[in-house]
Amino acid sequence: MNNTAPKLTNEQYEKNFADIHPAFTQNQAVTEANRCLYCFDSPCMKACPTHIDISTFIKKIATGNVKGSAKTILASNWIALTCAKACPVDVLCEGACVYNDRGEEPIKIGRLQRYAIDWYFEHGMPALFTPAPKNGKSVGVIGAGPSGLACAAELALLGYDVTIYEGKDVAGGLDTWGIAPYKMTYKDSLNEVKLVQSFGVTIKTGMWIGKNLTIAELEKKHDAIFIGVGLGKSPSLKIPGEDLKGVVDALDFIASVTPRKWSTVDVGHRVAVIGAGNTAIDAATEAKRLGAEQVTIVYRRGENDMSAYDFEYELAKNDGILFHFHTAPQRIIGNGTVEALECVKMRLRNPVAKGKQSLEPVPKSEFQIPVDMIIKAIGQDANENFLEQIGGMEFVDGNVAVNTETMRTANPKYFAGGDCINGGKEVVNAAADGKKAAHGIDTFIFNKR
Ligand code: SF4
Repeated sequence: MNNTAPKLTNEQYEKNFADIHPAFTQNQAVTEANRCLYCFDSPCMKACPTHIDISTFIKKIATGNVKGSAKTILASNWIALTCAKACPVDVLCEGACVYNDRGEEPIKIGRLQRYAIDWYFEHGMPALFTPAPKNGKSVGVIGAGPSGLACAAELALLGYDVTIYEGKDVAGGLDTWGIAPYKMTYKDSLNEVKLVQSFGVTIKTGMWIGKNLTIAELEKKHDAIFIGVGLGKSPSLKIPGEDLKGVVDALDFIASVTPRKWSTVDVGHRVAVIGAGNTAIDAATEAKRLGAEQVTIVYRRGENDMSAYDFEYELAKNDGILFHFHTAPQRIIGNGTVEALECVKMRLRNPVAKGKQSLEPVPKSEFQIPVDMIIKAIGQDANENFLEQIGGMEFVDGNVAVNTETMRTANPKYFAGGDCINGGKEVVNAAADGKKAAHGIDTFIFNKR
């Protein structure tokens, strides 16, 4: 980079990346839990993809049974701490809370869940679940991200020998590498990995299937296989200058920040982020909190078309991120390293038509934004190269096709869940998929239907 932002002190970094939803004290948790109406039809529970028994876990907090509360939560969701801290609760459980209908603040379900699960880890993970006796069957899991961990934990409790194969050197997938550190910490994710290992699951890191172990070897070792791989890299911007130094992928950038080794992370003095989804917001706010003087989000459509959640957009605005809407990148300018992003203003081709309209550049509207770093956050491609190595699979829009009841793919030995089947939804969806797939695998292996 031509111009990196000056380094901050360790204290400043820690302050900038401090938890945006600090933990409840015991009094706060009990007071909040006592607000819950314990609704008989629990709309909050229905809105959670893992269907945690929310009113029951809240009631247990209210009565001082925090360990029991953690058990209720974990029985439905093995990555409950990640979900408590990183779920978009406003549009899931808390969004469904009946208090919203009364014009009052919904119950802080995410923070209560965090209170119970923090307690569980802080108290050394007391034994709450006992794995069934070994059933002599073995399952291989590809990927130690949220869906793989959830599937592995559930299978281990059902009596299976489970081995997770993880390409990276640290397990946890997106929970470890892809969530902004002011939402959750690297350590939170590793605690959840330890919980899954405590059920007897083996995790082999640095193991890329197809490279360190062939597909044939994997199939020979296991009775069934769960695919929990994430997505690949951002697609190309298809504009000149993309290869210049200082152009980075958003997930690579976020992964460089999550271990909190501040002195090893460089950020540009002036940064442009291309895209306006939740990942783009994370990357932009992280760049700003690392000390970038100016961070600009460039998005070819309008404010109302952003895929980022409203609360993420608010966070970015509060962090002083600038937004250029109806603006498309046209060329990256630089001599070896990035110096500027040339953009063009965009407009609707047919402004009076309904639905999502195609865009066209506004003639002679080109302008340049001087930048030292460009972060690409325009979504991710499917991991097709890898998935195609497995024979007999079917795909829909690049995603692995599964039976949504059993999570079984068109290749009968394989089951799948998480980003590779949904193109990149929430971590909680991956947790639900993994658990459902475990039962699909159990049904398949013991021919229960
Ligand atoms: Fe409690 Fe709200 Fe759920 Fe009702 S909807 S059980 S008040 S959290």
